[in-house]
Amino acid sequence: MVLVTAAALLLGLLAGCGAQKIDKVTGSSFLYVRKVENLPEDFIMGMDVSSVLAEEASGVKYYGYDGKEQEIFLTLAQSGVNYIRVRVWNDPFDADGNGFGGGNCTVDTAVGIGKRATKYGLKLLVDFHYSDFWADPAKQMAPRAWEGMSIEEKTEAAYNYTKESLQKLKDAKVDVGMVQIGNETNGALAGEKVWFNIQYLMQAGSKAVREVFPGALVALHFANPETPDRYRSWASKLDYYSLDYDVFASSYYPYWHGSLENLASILSEIAETYNKKVMVMETSYAYTAEDMDFSGNTIGEGGEVKGYPFSVQGQANCVVDVIDTIANKTRNGIGVVYWEGAWITVGTESWEKNHELWEKHGSGWASSYAAVYDPKDAGKYYGGSAVDNQAMFDSSGHPLESLKLFQLVRTGNAAEIKAEAIESAEVVCDVAQKLELPRTVSAIMTDGSRQSIPVEWNVDQAQMDKMQNGGVARYEITGTAGGLAAKASVSMVKFNYLKSPGFEEGDEGWTINAILPMDQLYVEEKEGDSLSGVKHLHFWNSAGKTVEFTAEQKVDGLKEGGYDFTISIMGGDGGATEIYAYVKENGEIVATEPLKITSWNEWHTAKIAGVHHSEGAEFIVGIYVRCTGSGNGAWGKIDEAILNFAD
Ligand code: CA
Repeated sequence: MVLVTAAALLLGLLAGCGAQKIDKVTGSSFLYVRKVENLPEDFIMGMDVSSVLAEEASGVKYYGYDGKEQEIFLTLAQSGVNYIRVRVWNDPFDADGNGFGGGNCTVDTAVGIGKRATKYGLKLLVDFHYSDFWADPAKQMAPRAWEGMSIEEKTEAAYNYTKESLQKLKDAKVDVGMVQIGNETNGALAGEKVWFNIQYLMQAGSKAVREVFPGALVALHFANPETPDRYRSWASKLDYYSLDYDVFASSYYPYWHGSLENLASILSEIAETYNKKVMVMETSYAYTAEDMDFSGNTIGEGGEVKGYPFSVQGQANCVVDVIDTIANKTRNGIGVVYWEGAWITVGTESWEKNHELWEKHGSGWASSYAAVYDPKDAGKYYGGSAVDNQAMFDSSGHPLESLKLFQLVRTGNAAEIKAEAIESAEVVCDVAQKLELPRTVSAIMTDGSRQSIPVEWNVDQAQMDKMQNGGVARYEITGTAGGLAAKASVSMVKFNYLKSPGFEEGDEGWTINAILPMDQLYVEEKEGDSLSGVKHLHFWNSAGKTVEFTAEQKVDGLKEGGYDFTISIMGGDGGATEIYAYVKENGEIVATEPLKITSWNEWHTAKIAGVHHSEGAEFIVGIYVRCTGSGNGAWGKIDEAILNFAD
């Protein structure tokens, strides 16, 4: 009974506001989606599609899940999206009416998109940049029409422009749910760079929103949550100026914007301190490293964030984690907006063909015409979509399964959990040890967890022998794990078996034995007197005193075979000297190599090569130093002892 009544009521409401009944997606045979608990019905699942009209004008077609061409706003609504975001520039055209690109977005674009969105029950989020083109942390240029205005004039212009623009949306019966006053306004807005002026513009925009859409939320939008002090400082300034706003919003691009824990922490702090709602205003993640429109992307090969492979599943997992963070780990978190999920390639033939469309319809990030406004960046580097690999439609306009997450995150979707990506393995093996390849590799699973799974390496016995007996070298090998390609690098190295071999960890492992009394014999930290690192063993005896000591190290667990021992010394005022490196086996010196000291920074190195060690015998390497001294007394530095397996 209750259900029937509620459904009837819902249908009635939808019919009342002219929206169509939407059949939401109910599952995916492919995509694993973790259920996010405590998601309110009105939690904002936003999609920014500012470029969509320019895309369509360029010939792009969008499809539904059944493979048939379909109104994109219906597909978005079916996928659980409930908010559409659109940027608005004052005048992104040159004197001849050529668009700057980026969708050539004006308030008319917002009206066009808003009407279609409203038809499918999607609310509109209007993103005023207060600029004639892109506004972001690097750029906040005033619209050309506002240049040279005093702050009083500019404030009035901002108020009038906002009010007139919103009135157009209201007249078109667009369901505006939220309005942003400025985009990524990191300390600048419409050419103003001091908060005293910025707040006037924000206040004017907010006032216009309250008058035209009293039911809409007023949002302010910032970027770079990874430096939380900025947000603290800006939120406190907004409070100081009694700015009338509802939502403190942040961009969150996982490649650049720090951890989700940090995001939750700083947004929660602001929500609590100033009693504001908070949200992620822009986020996205790549489903592939490939570029599909001949115009380079902001993120590509090697740009993956740990734990999120560049795949449809990895893209979905990343966004689900952002939603969970805002819904469950952030105070007063009201939603997440995905940035430009439909900005796909306008063609697959050539850059020239695409360029023509970008120039004509503004479907690239910038056209050459933008040079009149932004000559240093857009006017120079104009091109296509820099985020076609972060869209939620493939290059032919078919929705990716990841788009369904906005609906499926409410219920969860159980799909078979399997390996999604294999992390490359690192094998480091001493040339003296038996080379063994790992039997398992670490896999990122479709549910985002990490598991060790069995691997088969494409390596036969001949290749194993080659790596085992090829001395110091590095190899790349491939294999298969969980049906996916695996790879490993195999580094055959010569281990140095000594502890603190350059005295960087002090005298750990060393026995330093003064045979005659020493004035100074200790590990010293002085980079300029070290052969490598910053430490070495230092000795000195004052004039007339003979130096005599040993520094040696017992090495356990060596397998039988030949070993090389190397050690270096420098010093001076030695007088008559007897200095040598030695190797002892079972208490007997079995090899020595002479050394000397001459002058400061003149290092002498002894190498005892290929000394044989019998398994189980006590094995000691060291240096013996005896100097009668001259001048102010013998002194010296000992560094870089190396013991490794001989070839
Ligand atoms: Ca591209």
